[in-house]
Amino acid sequence: MTQNAFTSFIELHVLHHAAERPIYGLWLIEELGEHGYKISPGTLYPMLHSMEKSGLLKNRDVLTNGRIRKYYSITSKGRRHLLKGKRQIGELVNEIFDESDFRLLRLPLKTERA
Ligand SMILES: [Zn+2]
Repeated sequence: MTQNAFTSFIELHVLHHAAERPIYGLWLIEELGEHGYKISPGTLYPMLHSMEKSGLLKNRDVLTNGRIRKYYSITSKGRRHLLKGKRQIGELVNEIFDESDFRLLRLPLKTERA
């Protein structure tokens, strides 16, 4: 792996949202902010660009309020990458977390949320 774990993690988060619907840079910056991650456009845009170059995302220009906005969506390669990343993260999370951690950290389990 040539990049750091934080970057990989942010990339997976981007892929997760891009798999749900097409997303754009500013939306991601705000969404990451809600998770408590402050990421600047100078970091995010090159990341989106390199993910596109690696074939994980594809982009489409959409005219919005007189401006061109780049919407990114996931590719099939991106979906495979996301699944692989989820497996890796899931293994680590399963190892270091137990159920009391979820209670302690007030992290609802998805099955409890549904
Ligand atoms: Zn999110």
